[in-house]
Amino acid sequence: MQNLISKWRQFWANRGLAVRFLIVYLTLSLVTVSLLTWRSGTQLSRALEEEYEHELETEAFIVAAALSSDVEDMLEGERKPIEVLSLMRRFATDTESRITFISSDTRVVFSTDPAIPPGEPQPFPEVMAALQRSEQHAIRTDPYTGDVRLFVAAPLIEEEHLIGVVRISVPWERVRVRIVGEWTRLILTGLLLIAANVLVSLWLAFSIVRPLRELTAAAQDIASGNLSRRIPVSSKDEVGQLACAFNEMAERLQEMIERQRLFIANASHELRSPLTSLKLRTEALVEDKNMTLERKERFIRELDREVDRLRRLAERLLDLTRLQVKPKPQDPTPVSITEVIQDVVEALKPRAERQGINLVVNVTDKIPPVYGSREDLFEVVVNLLDNAIKYTPSGGTVRVEAHEEDGQVVIRVSDTGEGIPEESLHHIFEPFYRVDKARSRRIGGSGLGLAIVKALTDAYHGTIDVQSSPGMGTTFTVKLPARSER
Ligand code: ADP
Repeated sequence: MQNLISKWRQFWANRGLAVRFLIVYLTLSLVTVSLLTWRSGTQLSRALEEEYEHELETEAFIVAAALSSDVEDMLEGERKPIEVLSLMRRFATDTESRITFISSDTRVVFSTDPAIPPGEPQPFPEVMAALQRSEQHAIRTDPYTGDVRLFVAAPLIEEEHLIGVVRISVPWERVRVRIVGEWTRLILTGLLLIAANVLVSLWLAFSIVRPLRELTAAAQDIASGNLSRRIPVSSKDEVGQLACAFNEMAERLQEMIERQRLFIANASHELRSPLTSLKLRTEALVEDKNMTLERKERFIRELDREVDRLRRLAERLLDLTRLQVKPKPQDPTPVSITEVIQDVVEALKPRAERQGINLVVNVTDKIPPVYGSREDLFEVVVNLLDNAIKYTPSGGTVRVEAHEEDGQVVIRVSDTGEGIPEESLHHIFEPFYRVDKARSRRIGGSGLGLAIVKALTDAYHGTIDVQSSPGMGTTFTVKLPARSER
């Protein structure tokens, strides 16, 4: 049994949807249609039988009523038996039946069928019932003709006296032929119903399977590299919704891969220039045997600077890819933004002073902690403040503020620097984007700082906004959801 079930499961799992549909529909319609046919068939044949029996009984009573006075006359010798027999024969031909007159002692007087000899005893149920003035039909093989017949009998009563029994019979074959005819019609209708069911289920199955097959083909196409492949959406049902979702997924995938391709191209480009300058200097150091010591020292210092820049670039690239792979901070702990800002300011103050920039800190006392990692939040603030100092000329002011607003910690870094042109504002959070490439590179920028800040604020379900007017300054506003300590 267990074996059978598992075999069936395996069989079922290996079938296509269309076949499963067909099997289910076919079984269901076969069972229901057969049950219905069987029920209505048996009821119909029962009803037909009863109709025949009833008709024959009525006939028997009519014949009995019509003949009673003639039989009475015959018994009293006023009429010849042959006259009564010919009357009976007329009835028999009209109703295509056989009529027998049986005396009250159950013996045949005469019959319209000469095969039944007079004097034969007829102790059959229909005769006995008629003698009791009730009625009962019977179906049996007739001993005189050898065929199966339906028998009914009615009492012959004249002036309250029972003077005999009139029995009528018809061949059962006549009823059977009609019943078989009805059964055939019923079974044919059932078969037609099943065929219609199969057609409808086939149509239904294929209307579901066809778009699914298209989906499969499209998915395989995309898997083999054709990322621009889309599926035509022709309906609003579940399959149509699936196609829609599929197209959306393909679109996103294409965008993502395009972004990554661009990222890799940009990253290689970024790596190439410091490597080229490294190579030029090492070549010179190796090949120029007559190089002065001062020149050598200068080259080595420059080499050191380039290697530093490369290391920084590599670190930032790693930071960014790490954020893309694992955007959520692990083991979040409550981090005080006030402390983070203090640390960053401490680290950057000497540079600001060197550049003649006025660094102003304005942090309110009660700021709820942000749940996450201290390094992440340090990274956010240090990048914004570093940029503000980088892009503000000497004599300018850089301001860091933090406060709580509607359950969010708001960090604002503003400067009185050169600002960002309107058309660049949409791009500054893209990796490697720089307003002035050459300048940014000269002052040690990689174009990744703001991309990292953006990725981090996204990971913390926060937002970052920028406002800038060229020549007047820039303001970055970061909002992070705050949660009070438990
Ligand atoms: P970078 O390493 O070049 O600073 P970022 O991703 O930090 O890269 O910034 C992207 C670009 O946005 C910068 O190259 C610069 O042009 C512009 N930018 C960022 N911050 C400021 C600012 N405070 N003032 C003016 N421009 C800025």
